[in-house]
Amino acid sequence: MDIGFIGLGNMGFPMARRLTEAGHRLVAFDTRKEVLDTLVARGATAASSPKDVADQVETVMASLPSLQASLEVATGANGVIDGKRVKRFVDLSTVGSQMAVKIHSLLARRDIVQIDSPVSGGVGGAEKGTLAVMVSGPRGEFETIRTALDVIGKVFFIGDKPGAAQTMKLANNLLSATAIVATSEAMVMGVKAGLDPAVMIDVINAGSGMNTASRDKFPRSVLPRSFDFGFATGLMVKDVRLALEEMKQLGLSMEVADAVGRLWETVIGEEGAASDFTAAIKPIERRAGVIVGGKK
Ligand code: NAD
Repeated sequence: MDIGFIGLGNMGFPMARRLTEAGHRLVAFDTRKEVLDTLVARGATAASSPKDVADQVETVMASLPSLQASLEVATGANGVIDGKRVKRFVDLSTVGSQMAVKIHSLLARRDIVQIDSPVSGGVGGAEKGTLAVMVSGPRGEFETIRTALDVIGKVFFIGDKPGAAQTMKLANNLLSATAIVATSEAMVMGVKAGLDPAVMIDVINAGSGMNTASRDKFPRSVLPRSFDFGFATGLMVKDVRLALEEMKQLGLSMEVADAVGRLWETVIGEEGAASDFTAAIKPIERRAGVIVGGKK
């Protein structure tokens, strides 16, 4: 099918590349010309703005780094909302349910259907097409884009309520964020007591402490001290804040979530929004006076 794709970053580029390789005709846009040129070299057509994308295709997907970026791309000046052909806007970004509902309402005024489709599984999952793809929106619209979403990963229909898939995604990411800081604390404790971090990770991964941080993030990006897993701290903190807001909105107060939120605020304060999220261990190491990994 003809697909517009806006936002060719860590996640967007590999998703767009897979769609092109699967035979879909892509019309793409990103504010960074270099990534757009790279996708064009792989068969996509370049557009000059979100509106230009939406002038050419009925289905526009987006993978953008902030709530503001999704709002602007969808409904701002020269946005998807002004496109001549567009019928549906599929947001693959994590924006939280409130922003999803806001974009949904603004687009509905122009008869454009907003479909939430946040994803989980990181850059590796985007490259391999193994992401968890969480979709909410009208069932019929979902069926129209299902084949394309199948190229990106394993697709789950969460419901027709706008924003439902965002709530699902935030529950997932709160767990992912918790795993990183909790694993960091456990590892720092062990290393402070003299344990070998590589042995610790092997034991945890063979035992009941195993989680996505111990399984993927520590072996690949923390123990080798490369801190290059491919998800920015700023994006992780965005998701944790969104999860806390979502809880507040529901009248909930959650103790683990609050503690995880405070830890991630420390990480962004000390490591910066552009750091890789695996750098979350650094403030914990600093306070303990140890380094986890780095040498044989
Ligand atoms: P990124 O910062 O790597 O990529 C964002 C891209 O959007 C960049 O290429 C940027 O140039 C482009 N962009 C920004 N503003 C734009 C605009 N106004 N118009 C057009 N292009 C614009 O971010 P990412 O890591 O790819 O994340 C994208 C979304 O996916 C976020 O919502 C994030 O939370 C979510 N996500 C990321 C991961 C991950 O592991 N990186 C995993 C799951 C979900």
